[in-house]
Amino acid sequence: MRRRRNVKIVATLGPASSDYETIRALFEAGADVFRLNMSHGEHADIAERHAIIRKIEADTGRPIAILADLQGPKLRVGTFANGEEELEVGQKFRLDLSEAEGDARRVRLPHREIFEALEPGSSLLVNDGKIRLKVETCGADFADCEVMVGGTISNRKGVNVPDVVLPLAALSDKDRRDLEFVCELGVDWLALSFVQRPEDVEEARELAKGRAAILSKIEKPSAVTNFDAILAVSDGIMVARGDLGVELPVQNVPPIQKRLVKKCREAAKPVIVATQMLESMIDSPVPTRAEVSDVATAIYEGADAVMLSAESAAGSYPIEAVKTMNAVAIEVEGDPTYREVIEASRGGRKKTVADGIVSAAREIAETTEIKAICCFSQSGTTAALVARERPRVPIIAMTHVIGTARRLCLTWGLHCVMSEAVTRFKGAVIASARAALSEGFAEKTDQIVVTAGVPFNKPGTTNILRVAPCEERLIYSADPE
Ligand code: PGA
Ligand code: MN
Repeated sequence: MRRRRNVKIVATLGPASSDYETIRALFEAGADVFRLNMSHGEHADIAERHAIIRKIEADTGRPIAILADLQGPKLRVGTFANGEEELEVGQKFRLDLSEAEGDARRVRLPHREIFEALEPGSSLLVNDGKIRLKVETCGADFADCEVMVGGTISNRKGVNVPDVVLPLAALSDKDRRDLEFVCELGVDWLALSFVQRPEDVEEARELAKGRAAILSKIEKPSAVTNFDAILAVSDGIMVARGDLGVELPVQNVPPIQKRLVKKCREAAKPVIVATQMLESMIDSPVPTRAEVSDVATAIYEGADAVMLSAESAAGSYPIEAVKTMNAVAIEVEGDPTYREVIEASRGGRKKTVADGIVSAAREIAETTEIKAICCFSQSGTTAALVARERPRVPIIAMTHVIGTARRLCLTWGLHCVMSEAVTRFKGAVIASARAALSEGFAEKTDQIVVTAGVPFNKPGTTNILRVAPCEERLIYSADPE
């Protein structure tokens, strides 16, 4: 099965998409990566969805990536005697550590470390930013606030503290249990919520022990400030616009999105643009024009993937949402302006042998009648570098490591194919030619470009480029060795 677009689609699974038929229909409509959200769903549900995805992978013969999204250190207030209270603008409201139930004047905030980090003037946002509090005075176990924007506050509502780097562990006890659970199930990507500093990523990487690649969700102002250092230690990035637009003024999100997407491409690491992309499709079979434009914008910017959250997890039209993204992607990528923008933002590299090889692979493929660029790699480095070039010609990522094939499903343009392990370059050329034919990219009379790093078991050694015929007899006669 071959996609007719390069940008990838991530679909979150949930109650609206939990059986084989629906998940298979999402896959066939265009979902390349499935996201399991650990904030919702019991371990038994997660295990069931995981098994269904792996079954679809086996039934279709196509690698599929699974991304487990950890909840992260999400702060919540305690409970109210009346279940909820109305906060009026200008009134005083106290947050403290007292175990007593809340009322119109105070509520528990069961996080001692937060009180130590707060300062007079700090903002606290409750319930997705709908209520805004400003700290006037605070101590080791309380903060007296003024209500700047009022509203209804109710039991266990979430609290965001945007302008303070919180002395919180990156992973809660729940996150650690979830991480171990999903790593044992076997997921390809672990997404970390509310990353604040590079150390948070390193901590998760130590626990994951190589079982999954690490994706940092950028949804805190501190993560935007520390972005370069976070990117350097992450395998991928999510522009998590939901919380980012709560923690920062919402108009700051588009320029941040543009900057992050650009930096990820430079680093050859996949970036997902996420949240509210087709929000109205939760209840409607057709999107708004603004939503279509938002998906298109992310694709024009060169994002590796666009994501559906509640649209596919809990909405009434999950399959229509994936079809919409797929259709928008095909349209944008067929627009000559898209090619102009993508090529203008390629940047001059060619600093390393690998950069030179992948750039040459693209130029050769684009200036001749080459049908595909095949990259043979174990770790996925060569394929990621070719994808960064954003060539016009399809890219086939060949590997004998199933984890690599699955992980690369998130990267722009990569059509991942499992192959036998090869020890010599000629074996790689033959396997590539066979894949180009059987996957419908080329005919016997066509040619392909093959890139690889030799020796094969050493990651990061992209050093070979070969233009090869697709017919095996010709490969042998051209290179009897
Ligand atoms: P969430 O993350 O859906 O897990 O909150 C994405 C976002 O905040 O945009
Ligand atoms: Mn979030």
